[in-house]
Amino acid sequence: MATTKSTGLAVRGINKRFGPVNALKEISLDVQEGEFFTLLGPSGCGKTTLLRIIAGLELPDSGKVILGGQDITSLPATRRQVNTVFQSYALFPHLTIFDNVAFGLRARKFPKNEIEGRVGKRLEMLGLLDMAHRRPHQLSGGQQQRVALARALVNEPKVLLLDEPMSALDARLRAQVQVELRRLQRKLGQTFILVTHDQAEAMVVSDRIAVMNQGMIIQFGSPKDVYEQPRTRFVAEFLGAANLLKGRKKHHGLETDIGFLVLEREPKWENGTVAIRPERMHITEDPASVNSTRARVREAIYRGTDLDLWLDPGPLRVRTASNQHYEAGDEIWLELPSEALVILDE
Ligand code: ATP
Repeated sequence: MATTKSTGLAVRGINKRFGPVNALKEISLDVQEGEFFTLLGPSGCGKTTLLRIIAGLELPDSGKVILGGQDITSLPATRRQVNTVFQSYALFPHLTIFDNVAFGLRARKFPKNEIEGRVGKRLEMLGLLDMAHRRPHQLSGGQQQRVALARALVNEPKVLLLDEPMSALDARLRAQVQVELRRLQRKLGQTFILVTHDQAEAMVVSDRIAVMNQGMIIQFGSPKDVYEQPRTRFVAEFLGAANLLKGRKKHHGLETDIGFLVLEREPKWENGTVAIRPERMHITEDPASVNSTRARVREAIYRGTDLDLWLDPGPLRVRTASNQHYEAGDEIWLELPSEALVILDE
């Protein structure tokens, strides 16, 4: 068995079916102590089911969940050192913020002064001390979200599970809470596991991401790894925009519809696909000696910091700085540097 640090979390060979739906297929992963780990994937890929199995809210058909070296697969949720923050934070409306956060400790009959100390500390850390005597409806969405976090963190769980906790927030607040969450996790040094379908969110907060699709983990890696070195077409397309070029291997390169492309290494397949991010292609005045093609601008879309050009032959997409001027009909040379061409597995 692969090793994890003493308080790390390991999942081994988890399978879960709901009737005809094969929700999880042989899932294994290791989350290290103090890591911010994200399960990223589209709706229905099984990420919530996996989180619920880790939380003890769902039983797997087979496989194990191991926390700190101990098999906790059949331990009830309440006896796991794991807490979950859900998408709907479900605060008690009639209780003050302080009492909401203190609820779990009171239920577990902690002494009064310890409750006050622990709750005060968490409220302070999350910037909620001034609001301790308000009720949830007197708080903004972002503040309520922080109360939900404080309520989970006050129990000092070994692992904090976050099930799309920011999806109810508007875009601006969401961006702010993402940064706060990241900062908080760093400060606490606690293990966080987040579920999200939002690739930008996963990039901001995570040390490591597991990209999921159809009940399987397709790729593990740092945000930079999964963005820059996607292994499959699915990962390339799910994590931002990607140009996909099909071709046939020839010597150290690829024969494609836009010409011969030199690659940095030889693909394992005969016929396959390479990916290139729009911002990794260059627009040039003159043709480069290799890996360049003539293209015509079909549409130019101004995006503030960038300008996106949709090109023929298409649908190629290139991203350039927004102070550049291009319009439909312009003829350009496009360079696809070898080091930016990622050879996909399939
Ligand atoms: P979302 O982002 O939409 O919540 P998800 O990736 O979290 O999606 P899950 O909720 O884990 O996906 O669901 C995985 C699959 O299992 C889906 O096809 C879903 O319909 C199915 N499923 C989940 N829970 C149940 C259940 N209790 N009964 C039947 N099918 C279920």
